[in-house]
Amino acid sequence: MLILTCPYCGINADETDLHGDGEAHIPRQGAGAAEDDFEAYLFHKKNPRGVHFERWRHVFGCGKWFHAARDTMTLEVFGTYKAQTFEPPKALINKIKKKRLDWEGYMK
Ligand SMILES: [Zn+2]
Repeated sequence: MLILTCPYCGINADETDLHGDGEAHIPRQGAGAAEDDFEAYLFHKKNPRGVHFERWRHVFGCGKWFHAARDTMTLEVFGTYKAQTFEPPKALINKIKKKRLDWEGYMK
């Protein structure tokens, strides 16, 4: 079972208390966006084998959105952090690089 620590209330919540919403750090595209950019925003999501950054909501807890870094193959969770960031925290990136020497690093 997947267990994530909510960075707002500090509770270790299992996946039944959470709602996953796919890839994290996707720039929103508004009404004036180019058609290709809007299509990419809606449909072109990363789905890697390995390290992935995702959006989660603590739906049966504090209700807030947060981000999690985890390995999609092993379900190892590297960390969670508040959603009000454009990129993952540097400390988390460094932690993942130490554990996954072959990881290419965070790419937008
Ligand atoms: Zn929470």
